[in-house]
Amino acid sequence: MQEGFVITEGVACGPAVIFKNDSPMVNIVHISPEQVDAEINLYLNTVDRTYRLFLSEKNNVSADMAKEFLDAAILYLTDNYIKERIIHKIKDELCNAEAAVMQCYHEYISDLIGMNDPFVLHNEFELHNLAETIILELRKKKVHLPEITEDSILICNNITPAQFLTMNTEHIKGVLLEDGNTQSHLAIVLRGSKIPAIFNVSNATKVIQNGETVLVDAYANRIYISPLDELIWQSFNNAKKYQSGNERHTDTIKPLMAQYKTSPDGERMRILANINSVAELTKLTCLPSSGIGLFRTEFLFMNCSHEPSEEEQYLVYKKIMDMLPRNYEITFRTFDFSADKLPLYMSMSSAFNVDSNQHNKQSLIKQLRAIIRASAKRHIRIMFPMVAEYEQVRELVDLFNSVKSLLMDTGHEVGWIKIGIMIETPAGAIMSDSLAQIVDFFSIGTNDLTQYTEACSREDPTHRNDELTPAVLKLINLTVHNARKHHTPVCICGELVHNLDYLALFISMGLRDFSVAPFYLNRLLEKIHELEVKIEPLLDEKIDCIRTKNEIYDLNDSLITTHGSNRRIID
Ligand code: PEP
Ligand code: MG
Repeated sequence: MQEGFVITEGVACGPAVIFKNDSPMVNIVHISPEQVDAEINLYLNTVDRTYRLFLSEKNNVSADMAKEFLDAAILYLTDNYIKERIIHKIKDELCNAEAAVMQCYHEYISDLIGMNDPFVLHNEFELHNLAETIILELRKKKVHLPEITEDSILICNNITPAQFLTMNTEHIKGVLLEDGNTQSHLAIVLRGSKIPAIFNVSNATKVIQNGETVLVDAYANRIYISPLDELIWQSFNNAKKYQSGNERHTDTIKPLMAQYKTSPDGERMRILANINSVAELTKLTCLPSSGIGLFRTEFLFMNCSHEPSEEEQYLVYKKIMDMLPRNYEITFRTFDFSADKLPLYMSMSSAFNVDSNQHNKQSLIKQLRAIIRASAKRHIRIMFPMVAEYEQVRELVDLFNSVKSLLMDTGHEVGWIKIGIMIETPAGAIMSDSLAQIVDFFSIGTNDLTQYTEACSREDPTHRNDELTPAVLKLINLTVHNARKHHTPVCICGELVHNLDYLALFISMGLRDFSVAPFYLNRLLEKIHELEVKIEPLLDEKIDCIRTKNEIYDLNDSLITTHGSNRRIID
């Protein structure tokens, strides 16, 4: 089944318990003056119930992170200033409690950000999440939590930490969530409790039936429905090996990186990380990475109920840069929103549809200004997703140059910035010869490149993002060829890189930079070091002749001079 974002690594297997929750979208309802008291009471009772729940859970949880979250939540829940503001809003604006909660929390956060309050900079996501938690709790009367009496895998569309903690968590061995943010409270609680969990698993509650056996392999980021015993055994076994491998790596990482593996023609190869959140960065600092090959900035603001201002964004980008060593090159991808990646504020804002092009341009300028300002004294890269046309790229590069010049003219210090594009549409790959001449770098996004080339949705649970097809291989080869012809650095950053069966082929084609999710860094590093790849002078001709997926595996194997076949262990 299609993977999502791993929250906690590990393997778990058991019968599915499906839980479909209310949507956290805010229902804005105007109430009559007679309903005000009832709405205020509903709000106060909900806050009180949530507070008592968090308090009792704090004594039950053992993990420090979960305790930390509960402490912060308790602090905000007892904050009289926020309470008063919400009560006034209900009274003065005659709105229902959930609309008042969302708006007041949003205004409160904006005020604190405006005052440069250091506390809120660390707690912005917590505050947004808490508001959502209260909203879902306000609807508690409709929520029937499932009873969990045996070891199970919990599968939900979304769930608040309070709801989760109210369940019999002792029996929850794994969690799959359709929504979820890697920085959410729930993610923190799950990590703290070491429960293997994967978020953003599309359609999980529809595809999986109650009681069906589910295997969650949150090392390999794969989910299996009704798996064979052999596969279950293999996954648990691999998990053991991976755990001991990780321990070994903690001492060997630095010497390994110091040796810098080179390609057959003596070029240095780099392993970079794909990052979606500030929380993931904490993990990254102890991992072997030359930098960040893909920072998906859209995930930073998923939980925001308003479009983040330039200042709000600047603070987040600055914080990210300050968390990383100076020699780390960070590649920020500008917002890449799509139907499955819509932030809270976009679905709520009807204004977005009025003049979407103009709006997008203004939003992009805001984001570019924020990133460029935060780049002072650093080397960074900015890349644009989903481009297809030469003129479009020209315009984007011109826009970047004018935003940067304006900032410099108005006295802002800016860093050293390279500007690039993702090659993730067939048009982009086909146009790569011309495009390579007007940008500083390419990054090949194989997830979208595959979906648009093969006309198969990446949201389809039966589709595998880590399988290379002949057509996609030919487009990647064309892109790498054109990039190298114009000395334009090219990285590959889609899920295909997680499938190490293609690594020899990618190296032979001329790829030198590989960007993967953090939990693949060690495995890729190990593989790159053990693999000896031969130079194949007729590689382009051989790729041109490829017709089937199996021929790709055979070609890959023929390029390995050591260790025989390279097939993956985990299916
Ligand atoms: C891709 O499309 O391959 C990619 C890396 O970007 P995303 O998965 O964020 O669309
Ligand atoms: Mg993409």
